[in-house]
Amino acid sequence: MKQESPWEEAKRNLEAASERVSLDPLLLARLSEPDRIIEVSLPIRMDDGKVKTFRGFRVQHNDLRGPYKGGLRYHPKVDMLEAKALAFWMTMKCAIIDVPFGGGKGGIAVNPKELSEDELERLTREFARKLAPVIGADLDVPAPDVNTNAKIMDWIRDEYEKETHKSAPGVVTGKSIENGGSEGRAEATGLGGAIALSSILRAQGKEMRGATVAIQGFGNVGSYLARFLQKAGCVIVALSDSKGGIYIPRGISDLSAIEACKARSGKVAGCYCVGSVCDLSNMESLGGRDISPDDTLTLPVDILVPAALEGAITEENVDKIQAGVVLEMANGPTTSGADAILNERGVTVIPDILANSGGVAVSYFEWYQNVRDEKWTKEKVFAALQERMDAAAARVNESATTRQISLREAAYVVALEKLSSGDVG
Ligand code: GLU
Repeated sequence: MKQESPWEEAKRNLEAASERVSLDPLLLARLSEPDRIIEVSLPIRMDDGKVKTFRGFRVQHNDLRGPYKGGLRYHPKVDMLEAKALAFWMTMKCAIIDVPFGGGKGGIAVNPKELSEDELERLTREFARKLAPVIGADLDVPAPDVNTNAKIMDWIRDEYEKETHKSAPGVVTGKSIENGGSEGRAEATGLGGAIALSSILRAQGKEMRGATVAIQGFGNVGSYLARFLQKAGCVIVALSDSKGGIYIPRGISDLSAIEACKARSGKVAGCYCVGSVCDLSNMESLGGRDISPDDTLTLPVDILVPAALEGAITEENVDKIQAGVVLEMANGPTTSGADAILNERGVTVIPDILANSGGVAVSYFEWYQNVRDEKWTKEKVFAALQERMDAAAARVNESATTRQISLREAAYVVALEKLSSGDVG
């Protein structure tokens, strides 16, 4: 079966929602294509002396509500169509979580794991130089995404400041704390997901305590989410990354040991931890078994969390999904065909543009602290995040209930209503 591109999927969601809210055709046209797309050539010298050229992308989708905002992803599959969809979702996400930003996204088609640290830095600095004329605290503010992190954001800030000869802490968010980053930004997407889940379950009269959870993706988002869900009483039974994972039906207790194991070995697979010993010798005593990234999606759990890439849940595997709740921490993890089937089956899908909007919420707090020269404590950041996530989840849930539509359809309705109202922040 031919899969639609994420961009086609995104446009379909937009069109359906625009009919529901009788969107002004001019606004629909503005949202149907990005404001600007940028493609750059990134030649760098590799450690062996040879020159290699990479392609970089930035899509500035819409800035009606404020500067373009969204991550930069380093992944071999990055291309313009993917960046367009991701930038569009950022426009929607920023409206739902009600931060005064528009949507942007970009990245480099590269597998960063194949680069040395020096090559990664040269590539990032080259990208920052090429983007310098089109980014800035009041114009377009990149952030981390798949395979990018605080160190990469620090390099971008530094290179941008060299290019523009001015101090510009607000040019990127997700920086290290020493370099103008915010307390709580690293945890934000995971914590926001846990808050969204708890708000929606509460509204449905369901319990989080004791619910079993499988998480596909154990990067920044998946690892913090696992911790917050465990703290809220959920039982994490499966974790995987791109190389595979572990399934322990009675529950994975020591998440710190698994993080340390993954940091050492580069993968979650094989991280059967008892005390500080993490290896296959513990598999049997823990009652565990190895799983592939795809297996993670079809386990008998209450809550399924796709926290990796787009297109994880498709019409091909949707019939095997057993969870009653899907918390979309990745962007675009469910194709529209699969989404329709989950809806019919009465599965609660907490959509990406709500579920993972905690990241950009705290990016906004970081940017706000940078432009006002403030420093918030982690408690203040978490409290502000809680308030925004709860409000956003309540808006989406209310719209879904009143209109008798899915949470995803409602999330688009809420976003389009915000965008039409002209009311920002
Ligand atoms: N990359 C994250 C996302 O997809 C964060 C974006 C941001 O903080 O600007 O939401």
